[in-house]
Amino acid sequence: MRNILALGEIRAGALRNISFEMLSAAQEIAEGGKITAVLIGCDDQTLAHELGRFGADQVYFVTGDQLSHYTTDGYLQVLHQLAQEEKPDILLFGHTAVGRDIAPRLASRLGRGLVSDVTDIQLEAGKITFTRPIYAGKAFQQVEMAEDRWLATIRPNNMTAKPLDSKTDPTIIDYKVETSQIRTIIKEIVKKTATGVDLSEAKVVVAGGRGVKSAAGFEPLQQLADLLGGAVGASRGACDADYCDYSLQIGQTGKVVTPDLYIACGISGAIQHLAGMSQAKVIVAINKDPDAPIFEVADYGIVGDLFEIVPLLTEELKTA
Ligand code: FAD
Repeated sequence: MRNILALGEIRAGALRNISFEMLSAAQEIAEGGKITAVLIGCDDQTLAHELGRFGADQVYFVTGDQLSHYTTDGYLQVLHQLAQEEKPDILLFGHTAVGRDIAPRLASRLGRGLVSDVTDIQLEAGKITFTRPIYAGKAFQQVEMAEDRWLATIRPNNMTAKPLDSKTDPTIIDYKVETSQIRTIIKEIVKKTATGVDLSEAKVVVAGGRGVKSAAGFEPLQQLADLLGGAVGASRGACDADYCDYSLQIGQTGKVVTPDLYIACGISGAIQHLAGMSQAKVIVAINKDPDAPIFEVADYGIVGDLFEIVPLLTEELKTA
């Protein structure tokens, strides 16, 4: 029996899908233990019902000054305090900007091991095995933790979020924390990129590389992404060339995405880029160089000029 605590994530007032994916993973391994979801800086208790549908037995709504925006300092203090009070055996986080930042620090404070970027969790005869990519996604490693109490970060879009057939609403715990010790205060967030589909969780990603040639060159990619209900991403080549914001960068030093469809336009396919997208279910590459390495990982390849092919594809899909 394992008690599990998962940090839910919210974007634009709604729960991110990774919150449900983590709870479903927790269901698989709890073996009758209690599953707790935590939402920090949120007092919208209507969200508890959804978390309950995916397996949460109780939901903490943690509020206090300085908690409405993520800060490493604030979240670390809250989660450390909660972990000491709730004593969960396992703490789960999304392998997201928040989870990647907070989980290693909390693991260190709690003196526990951390397995990061988990794409699968298997429970067999009481023993848990994790699968995680290594060598920039070229191989997978299976890991077992030497101790029973650990932390993990779960890669979004890899585990299926499974709602339960029947479930009573979870217990809601209104948790007010003393935040005078928090040393970082976020006064204002000025968004650089337009809000739209969340790149990390998008089912379709249309990504541009240096071959897009300018900021204006991203427009046809945006149109295709909009049509497919997806998000635009980029290679570091495109970000370094100032064609787009670094928040769009996909790869080893950028975001990791696992969409159903990844359309790479004018991207050569360097290993550091593949690290962030090679787990996409279907990869389409558009490149004018037939020898570009991206074709080695692509399911479908189109050799040609992206400025001809992307608008053609968009027109074709509009009438499909
Ligand atoms: P290029 O390699 O220049 O490729 C451009 C491609 O566009 C070419 O294949 C060309 O044939 C094609 N093209 C040009 N014009 C057209 C056209 N009109 N139509 C169709 N195709 C066209 N990179 C990342 O992406 N993400 C990372 O996170 C990342 N992290 C890194 C970390 C480290 C430590 C290092 C050293 C590098 C990292 N890089 C990363 C950089 C990586 O090595 C590559 O330099 C980068 O991915 C190249 O970007 P690109 O494919 O857009 O550009």
